[in-house]
Amino acid sequence: MAMEVAHREGRLMEPHSLLDSWCKGSLNIPLSSFFTRSIGEGVSIKFWDEEWLGTFKLAEVYPRLYALESMKDCNIADRLFKSNGHISLAWNWRRCIRGSREKEEMDSLTCLIQGVELKSGPDGWNWALESSEKFTVKSLRVKLDEQILSSSHEKIRWNPLVPKKVNILVWRADKDSLATRCNLDKRCIDLRSILCPMCEDDVETLDHLMGRCSWSRNIWNLIFKWCGVSLSGDLDYKSVCNFVNHLSTEKKRMFSPFHLQCFEAIIFTSIWHIWRSRNAKVFRLKESNGSDILSRMFKAYHFVGLVIRCKNF
Ligand SMILES: [Zn+2]
Repeated sequence: MAMEVAHREGRLMEPHSLLDSWCKGSLNIPLSSFFTRSIGEGVSIKFWDEEWLGTFKLAEVYPRLYALESMKDCNIADRLFKSNGHISLAWNWRRCIRGSREKEEMDSLTCLIQGVELKSGPDGWNWALESSEKFTVKSLRVKLDEQILSSSHEKIRWNPLVPKKVNILVWRADKDSLATRCNLDKRCIDLRSILCPMCEDDVETLDHLMGRCSWSRNIWNLIFKWCGVSLSGDLDYKSVCNFVNHLSTEKKRMFSPFHLQCFEAIIFTSIWHIWRSRNAKVFRLKESNGSDILSRMFKAYHFVGLVIRCKNF
């Protein structure tokens, strides 16, 4: 893998620098452990301060020798070189090795680096998740999926009547991971305002945008009225999104599972349209009202709406 993998602020970053920042984030996955150094000519790997012989640094394993080193940030090429096909050593100590502990460390280190091979070409990185040792986004994605999805025991809601993108948006909203202004503010992103862009009356949280906002409340009133359902009381995200799940057993019995799935599809798609309309206002200054969204819903769910309205909630 190429040493130089990304630019940030005009500066080239090495893989381990990027991985360090990932690991310190919320993923909590030891990604850096999947990379190991591949040694070329050894001109860009620190002899004492990088983990190039295993998962340890020579400076930590051989502290007495490191203390004697004259050039502590030397590279592998400063200490090892090829001579007649063999690896030769070029030490640069502040003084001679003396005492049994220093000699022990010296013998051990000499033994350890005997098997090292220097190759022509630049130093690089090997990726442990592929047999080819070449980094692939696919292998990383599979690893992240395993880690993230297996750590969640929540059942993922999936309505087969709506497109994947709608289900995914609802899944993200369930986890409160949509980029509402409140969530962006929590991540220390500097915003001019954290007020709801649709009404500017309150902070834009998920609950506000999807239920409490006068703008979205009007949309829900129209949508539910279209389906023959009257809404009352306060709304928040969960109460809207789980409306079908929270119907009483008695009311659920009035419908076939397909009817209930249709009603949930309308709710999920409305959430999708609310989020899209919100983004259109924020990023393109495009206004949408309840009637606009309802007309889009009519087009997509005309038949479904008719089916549901036949029933009496
Ligand atoms: Zn609002």
